[in-house]
Amino acid sequence: MSLIEKLPPDFYRFSYLGSSVENRSIYGLELGHGSYKIMAWSQMHGNESTTTRALIQLLSYDNLDEILKDTRLYIIPVLNPDGATHWTRNNACGIDLNRDATNNSQPEMNILRDIIEFYEPDLALNLHDQRSIYGTATSPMAAPLSFLAPAADPDRLITPARLKAMSVINTIVDVVNEQVPGQIGRYSDTFNADCIGDYCQSQGIPTILFEAGHSDHDYNRDKMVGIISEALRAVFAAAPKDQVMDESAIVSDYDSIPNVVSNYCDILIRNYPEPDSGRLVNLSIMFHEQVEDEQLFFVPMLYGINVDHIHYAHKTIDCSTNDEFKDDLIISDAMQVSSASLGIGVFAN
Ligand SMILES: [Zn+2]
Repeated sequence: MSLIEKLPPDFYRFSYLGSSVENRSIYGLELGHGSYKIMAWSQMHGNESTTTRALIQLLSYDNLDEILKDTRLYIIPVLNPDGATHWTRNNACGIDLNRDATNNSQPEMNILRDIIEFYEPDLALNLHDQRSIYGTATSPMAAPLSFLAPAADPDRLITPARLKAMSVINTIVDVVNEQVPGQIGRYSDTFNADCIGDYCQSQGIPTILFEAGHSDHDYNRDKMVGIISEALRAVFAAAPKDQVMDESAIVSDYDSIPNVVSNYCDILIRNYPEPDSGRLVNLSIMFHEQVEDEQLFFVPMLYGINVDHIHYAHKTIDCSTNDEFKDDLIISDAMQVSSASLGIGVFAN
């Protein structure tokens, strides 16, 4: 907590909110004194820490009081501490908390729902990481950043809350597009009342889903930490301002953000000669994340052969033109892939 303790004492309020299934503490931190209330929660999915790191980076900004001058910000940095410890998406009961908004069956969701009801935020930020499988429908590049202004109802009406969320997303895109040009995606707005974003939007709270993604070989997602921090700064500058809400312009700009599609894998090996048949095939490889002794490892696993929907990869190797390939590719019974000549193997972060 040394980072927090560096802040002026009258600038922050730190509180214990309750405990997880395995009795780990869940904390809240309120910053600033502005009248516009923004609430942000991260690591609802335990193995998605990029946005938590972005929040921590934000706390280190020297001019945080200026950034938050119009805002009061309530942060829950790690909503799912058991998942963060075990490096799992779900909580210790195996429940996806982002499908528990209606049931409200888990202590972590009880806490989040209670704080949302108590705090009555003017804007809510639902912070996540997306997997490395995503690109956009309009570009061969990966999508390292995606958003959604969730629907508030099955008809996906443009409610005032949703319009505000779309407007803020448009502002963020304008600010960070230069750093990830043409690589920002938009998720499908099919309504799901079990998702917390859809739930909040249905309660009239403007809500934004942030998804920090992946590009190139940045498996530690260090680049995205900085970009998410800048995106959050854009939110704090834009959201408190009263705007003339030109619905058609806002919706048009929002709809122009390309759809997210799952057309990526981590490594794509083209024209690999199958050992028995000699047939040339494309191998799609995905990294599985494994934690051992508190260290995160990325394990290359065969996802599929000639997979129709995978068109791109963060690393592409063409065996027909790659002089380095020494025919040493091994696929184990468990589908783990290795090749020293192609540089494919387990690596740690
Ligand atoms: Zn998530």
